[in-house]
Amino acid sequence: MSLFPADAETPQILIQNAEAALHHAKETSGWRFFVPTMNQESAERFTIEAGLRRALREYELEVYFQPLIGVRSRTIHGAEAVLRWNAPQGMISTVTFIPVAEASDLIVPIGAWVLHAACREAKRWETDGFPIRVAVNISSRQFRGDHLPTTVRAALEEQDLAPDRLELEITESLLIDDIPGVVAALEELDAIGVTLALDDFGTGYSSLQYLKSLPFHVLKIDRAFVKDIGSDAADVTLVTAIVGMAHGLGLRVVAEGVENRNQLDVLRRLGCDVIQGYYCGRPMPASDFRRQLRASGHADCLEQQSEQTMV
Ligand code: C2E
Ligand code: MG
Ligand code: MG
Repeated sequence: MSLFPADAETPQILIQNAEAALHHAKETSGWRFFVPTMNQESAERFTIEAGLRRALREYELEVYFQPLIGVRSRTIHGAEAVLRWNAPQGMISTVTFIPVAEASDLIVPIGAWVLHAACREAKRWETDGFPIRVAVNISSRQFRGDHLPTTVRAALEEQDLAPDRLELEITESLLIDDIPGVVAALEELDAIGVTLALDDFGTGYSSLQYLKSLPFHVLKIDRAFVKDIGSDAADVTLVTAIVGMAHGLGLRVVAEGVENRNQLDVLRRLGCDVIQGYYCGRPMPASDFRRQLRASGHADCLEQQSEQTMV
């Protein structure tokens, strides 16, 4: 809704303002009155969206890889692929552009591009003698766009990559958005043989019904629980419960956002299977990740720790 004459004095501007308010109303639900900051936000969104279209054409997008460390094997067990945008004006944060890509459905072609790039890289690791898994973030919009299982199959076939080398990270919002056919799509992906991970667990509704009824193999505990795990007894209790529940259901547990040794020690003691975080490696360009794999293949961050444990 936009009001005459307070918001605008001409029909054209009045309608334009109402459209900005409509856009906001769609993001939540219900209705919205126009406020002047909406125009500025729409203009920013528009600039980012136009920039993203160019980015896809002009090769400004790049996939970085962050190591996933197996606690028991003490090796690089896989890597999560995260998108980076090197715009002419500099790096643009995922926090800024991923939501715009999702809202504009550009995430569908971008997501397909990430899948192909990630599978291509996983094939290179295999050729180098490291048959490890690559994890790719999938947004709920990708389940609305093209038939996602078809896109996934195409990426695997193009790179001649075995399905068990690919993990798809999905957040709870997918399950809450109530997209028709999402359960069937997840089951189809499971049948293809890719691994399904529930990302950012514990931050949304965390309906346990999903864990029971859907074919997830991995649960990623959100950074929010890891941050203070060294000092906050409540976080220890929560993570203990999450790990117990996940293992009881046959899921592997990944702890996200591990930044220091103390957090790593606690998470390892609590039975987390895989560690991910700056402490073991930041997301890095593909060539750096390949170099790290070839140089060690194992995880230095856990090596040091094991010596300590032995003392
Ligand atoms: P996410 O999937 O939960 O990814 C983990 C995020 O945590 C990454 O941020 C990663 O850089 C960051 N991170 C990893 N270790 C640490 C740590 O020790 N400390 C801290 N403070 N942060 C850590 P990034 O790359 O900025 O991505 C943010 C989010 O954007 C991702 O969260 C994911 O939801 C989304 N995203 C990234 N790439 C893609 C993509 O290709 N497609 C889609 N749909 N979403 C993506
Ligand atoms: Mg993720
Ligand atoms: Mg996450």
